[in-house]
Amino acid sequence: MIFSNDYADQLDRADSLASFRDRFHIPKHANGDQIYLCGNSLGLQPKSVKTVLQQELDDWEALGVEGHFHAKHPWMPYHSELRDLLAETVGARPVEVVAMNSLTVNLHLLMVSFYRPNAERAAIVIEQGAFPSDRYAVESQIRFHGFDPAECLIEIAADPDTGLIPTDALESCLREHGHRVALILWPGVQYRTGQAFDLKAIADLGHFYGCRVGFDLAHAAGNLPLQLHDSGADFAAWCSYKYLNSGPGAIAGAFVHERHAQAVLPRFNGWWGHRQDTRFQMGPEFKGTPGAEGWQLSNPPIFAMAPMRASLEIFHEAGMPALRRKSLALTAYLEALIRQELGDVLRSVTPDDPEQRGCQLSLQVRAGRDAGKQLFEHLMQSGVIGDWREPDVIRLSPTPLYNRFSDCLGAVRCIKQWAESV
Ligand SMILES: *Cc1c(COP(=O)(O)O)cnc(C)c1O
Repeated sequence: MIFSNDYADQLDRADSLASFRDRFHIPKHANGDQIYLCGNSLGLQPKSVKTVLQQELDDWEALGVEGHFHAKHPWMPYHSELRDLLAETVGARPVEVVAMNSLTVNLHLLMVSFYRPNAERAAIVIEQGAFPSDRYAVESQIRFHGFDPAECLIEIAADPDTGLIPTDALESCLREHGHRVALILWPGVQYRTGQAFDLKAIADLGHFYGCRVGFDLAHAAGNLPLQLHDSGADFAAWCSYKYLNSGPGAIAGAFVHERHAQAVLPRFNGWWGHRQDTRFQMGPEFKGTPGAEGWQLSNPPIFAMAPMRASLEIFHEAGMPALRRKSLALTAYLEALIRQELGDVLRSVTPDDPEQRGCQLSLQVRAGRDAGKQLFEHLMQSGVIGDWREPDVIRLSPTPLYNRFSDCLGAVRCIKQWAESV
């Protein structure tokens, strides 16, 4: 019953967000659209991006340096338009967020302020199998401060059976090591398994043990309705080219909790972090602007910010609560189809509990890694776009802004075709 065009079409017709798909360019395959389930890796292009970029090109052409004040969206305060939209998307206050740099850069800049190891407390806790860039970043931070990662990098292992991190694993770790942990850097959603975490519970726990707590929200921003302010995290960072659809290598986001807005923290400074009202007096002494904007170094890349503005306006219009409602239904539908039609072919690594995941399902082929690779190739050749994560995971992520229930059906049909042919 659920495995039928009628059923999927009916769900699509009842979808109040269905029209948002028309706001995106959907890449083509053969005579139709790709089944693009890869928003976890690179979100699709909003059609409005071309217009907003063209506007900036036109303003640069016509106005030169005057564009800083007289462009349609003046470049000088450009970041403030982004700030409010970005804050809304991640559940933060405007003073807490800024769009700048890229994700790994932001992690480093924020660790300059929030990883302050000393002889008693020098350790960083991350999850085992963390995204490589995060691991490289924390390891190099530990070395930079003259400590040894072999002692000071604590990696919390996943359960070997499920591949997931048990909810009490962090607590047991802190009970043992909490006194020497300076920083917990935790994912909002684990990139390989799709496991989502309760950010507030983690921040509370870390703070109880006297640690700083930061989140990498690469796979959570634009995917889950975050309450970053209420979580109490010290800081967070995320990229914007995944669920936030802001384009390849897009400018990233950073969050610093309001309680640090006025604090004098160790920080690397640049002129764009200087108070706006006196920045152009060009004085020798740095006076930081309060909040996350104080972490800015350089004047921002307008051509990188314009696509983000276009994209965040779409998020604003659709609203994260509505997007989450559709996302829950989409992923549940994909999961139900897989269970019913492909139970003996695929296993999902992602938690069954919808509260512990976003869009993404991470799938393993029961027949093993080689079969998994084959299936992945088959999907890509058939125009069903997911991605492969070593050693053996296919990630499929139906995203509520541009995916349809019929995309889930099409993907499952394509996998069945492959399973029946081998
Ligand atoms: C995608 C991703 C990155 C990528 O880092 P960039 O600095 O944007 O290249 C880093 N960490 C995590 C957890 C990611 O998912």
